[in-house]
Amino acid sequence: MIRRLRVFVGALGAEVNAFSPIPLDRAAFEALWLLEAGEIGPDDEVPLIAAPLRRAFALQAAGEIDVIQGLCVGAQPGGPIALADYLALRDQLLADLAAAGPVDIVLLGLHGATAAEGIPHCESDILAMVRAAVGRKPVIAVLYDPHCHLTRSVLADADLVFAYKEYPHDDIFDVADTLVDDALRVARGDIDPVVAAYDCATLGTFKTQRPAMRALVDDISARVRSDPRLIDISIAHGFPWGDHEDTGARVWVTTNGDAALAQDVAAEFGSRLVAIRDVVQDRGVKLDALGGAVAAARRPVVVADSADNPGGGAPSDATYVIDALRQAGIGPIAVGLIWDPGAVALCVAAGEGARMPLRVAGKACELSGRPLDLDVEVVKIVDDLDMPFGGGRWPVGRAVRVDAEGLTLILCERRTQCFATEAFTRFGVDLARMHAVIVKSTGHFETSFRPVAGTIVPARGPGVLADDFSLLPYRRLSRPVWPLDPTAKGGPLPWTFEARSR
Ligand SMILES: [Zn+2]
Repeated sequence: MIRRLRVFVGALGAEVNAFSPIPLDRAAFEALWLLEAGEIGPDDEVPLIAAPLRRAFALQAAGEIDVIQGLCVGAQPGGPIALADYLALRDQLLADLAAAGPVDIVLLGLHGATAAEGIPHCESDILAMVRAAVGRKPVIAVLYDPHCHLTRSVLADADLVFAYKEYPHDDIFDVADTLVDDALRVARGDIDPVVAAYDCATLGTFKTQRPAMRALVDDISARVRSDPRLIDISIAHGFPWGDHEDTGARVWVTTNGDAALAQDVAAEFGSRLVAIRDVVQDRGVKLDALGGAVAAARRPVVVADSADNPGGGAPSDATYVIDALRQAGIGPIAVGLIWDPGAVALCVAAGEGARMPLRVAGKACELSGRPLDLDVEVVKIVDDLDMPFGGGRWPVGRAVRVDAEGLTLILCERRTQCFATEAFTRFGVDLARMHAVIVKSTGHFETSFRPVAGTIVPARGPGVLADDFSLLPYRRLSRPVWPLDPTAKGGPLPWTFEARSR
């Protein structure tokens, strides 16, 4: 009889924008996901940050493992986490792990670009402490967002680190399932992982539906399927608004005991990513040309305000794109999700059907632009808005639709990226009747909005998440890096880790 493996599952993550004016604290985690040890049951919906739990619960039901769920926390992206709050969450996770007693496997849902005040890479910090706590033998398997900073110490301390393959992240649970199965294979001695990494020395965004990225990602999955020596090939797209010496695009490859193969395959796909990095970048339309571009495009035109995407730590209340379209005579315009908890409170107090003057948006910081002063109608209040994302649901909470002067605005209390059309349709907005739909998102909106969009137009406005990297005051970023250094090409990282040979 096979002994049931004891498997601990925990999660802690938030994408941290080093230049964001929105500080993260414990309340930011409570507003999204803060689930204490044992709080998630096998029949509950698994929060995305703890995606490995889904497969773990299924294996427990099949009698293969015992699951011990520790702290699982995730926050909407923002600036660095307040140090005391980060340390308290980290130590709670470690205390849960200690309370679990001896375990065979530690599964961690992390992000890869989490930072706290004075701690530039929380994942490196967490992994070092988890490895020190459990010792050499237990398997540590980590699920990463591709918008991570790939550091040496994380690869050294973990046995398996897999990133989701898709951006938009439509495959979070699929990759998590594979990670859990492979962690069991490591624990049972069926495979012996070795990893190698390649530095692409590149800052950018890499939507996987762009033809050249699609081909690269499809080739990666075909290669892993066809070569039994390969365990995983992951791409760190990197998060250029983080500021770490390891910020940037990288490829890492995990093989079954074959270091040379890991190095070769990492170099092959790493240099392929460098070769296509320029053609796969979105070139957004500048604001002075945006009205003309939208007027000429097939309706409804979905305009991505990526510079104000809260999914990268921006406030989600900037008004530059709204102003540009209104000045060009575009209308009707729908906008979501605008973060303005004060305006939501006023609208809720007034109630559905109320008409009132409202100052909205343009408030969080200088890069938010000017507020809008409107005579609005409070059309609808939804208390429990949520949206599909990554195979799960993303909670938003209370949100309000207000209409005014050709504008339909969806206002939210909790800063949340506009992932899906439900952000409008739950309020009765008929997107087909809009001339333009402005979404505060860079890429994740595409899966849901593409079927209803006549055209998708990326805007290039000012904002906390503007993509002119030469304007960001980096302090730690390693150089040379493309596009700041146009000829930077990167190369293999001297980080090959031999099998742990249990
Ligand atoms: Zn991501």
